[in-house]
Amino acid sequence: MNDRRKFLGQMALSAGALAVSSGLDAKSPDPRAPEGGRVVSTWDFGVGANQAAWARLIAGGSALDAVEQGARWAETDLCNPTVGRCGNPDRDGVLTLDASIMDGDGRCGAVAALEDIDHPISVARRVMEDTPHVMLVGEGAQQFAVSKGFRKQRLLTPEAEQAWQAWRERAEYQPQINAERRQRPGDKDNHDTLGMLAIDRHGRLAGACTTSGMAWKMHGRVGDSPIIGAGLYVDNEVGAATASGVGEEMIRNAASFLVVELMRQGRTPMDACHEAIERVVRKRPEASKSLQVCFLAINRHGEVGAFALHEGFVYAVCDATKQDALHASDAIYAGSGA
Ligand code: ASP
Repeated sequence: MNDRRKFLGQMALSAGALAVSSGLDAKSPDPRAPEGGRVVSTWDFGVGANQAAWARLIAGGSALDAVEQGARWAETDLCNPTVGRCGNPDRDGVLTLDASIMDGDGRCGAVAALEDIDHPISVARRVMEDTPHVMLVGEGAQQFAVSKGFRKQRLLTPEAEQAWQAWRERAEYQPQINAERRQRPGDKDNHDTLGMLAIDRHGRLAGACTTSGMAWKMHGRVGDSPIIGAGLYVDNEVGAATASGVGEEMIRNAASFLVVELMRQGRTPMDACHEAIERVVRKRPEASKSLQVCFLAINRHGEVGAFALHEGFVYAVCDATKQDALHASDAIYAGSGA
């Protein structure tokens, strides 16, 4: 039994969505939005990231400040082989980072294939705030980061390098349905992104998504996480969505945008995530059997929902009542996870 399964077994998990309240018209901040706000994020490490975001929210920060803070925690404080400075590299041994940030007014920024710069989420925020653009990639993103005071530094950890050396013995790119973390060297950790969504006390929404992408990817490959509408989408009038899993599927389906649009049509966050998963399956039924795709959404009333292709996806929820809740998402395929 892998670490995640054990972990899941130990936690008191509840399946499906968190039903809170709904039903107001969609223009101004909802007075029934959770008191003090709410933060949600992907995977078990989302608990720690949520708490970092929550600290910012209760100190008076905006939803945008909160998600940046939460993503920064995941990028550094937890040495995670799928996010930030401890990420696994691509098949050439190069660590490249992707991140995006968005607020509910449509302001957004992203970086992709960023090398040797810590905290891609903060670089993404600077792209949003200090440039006329939405996304910077590769060398240009790095030059921009340095011009904004970020230090160029080698990030690849000895553990990640060792894992890459072990991977090279087989050199097969084979995404696992669910990553089995903390099993270096030669581990199978090749995905798990932090996607975080927050609503603040004023009913404003924001989201952040940060990742080292699929481990052992081709050099230059960019996944969904830095692509607005694929890995992240936020609209104050409706809600927000984020994703984790094999990013090519999210890009094909403009999936986070799709989830938000489904909520706009009246679906609950969980129903919207479920329908988006169904679309992934309809587009590539065979491929869907062997890869993981997970969606997490929150609407402007603070209702939360998630759905995954394969069981094993968990998401963390943090608000004034509980700061360490972890929930298991429903999935189309059961019993197929790692
Ligand atoms: N979505 C990320 C990517 O495709 C990886 C993940 O979430 O596991 O780069």
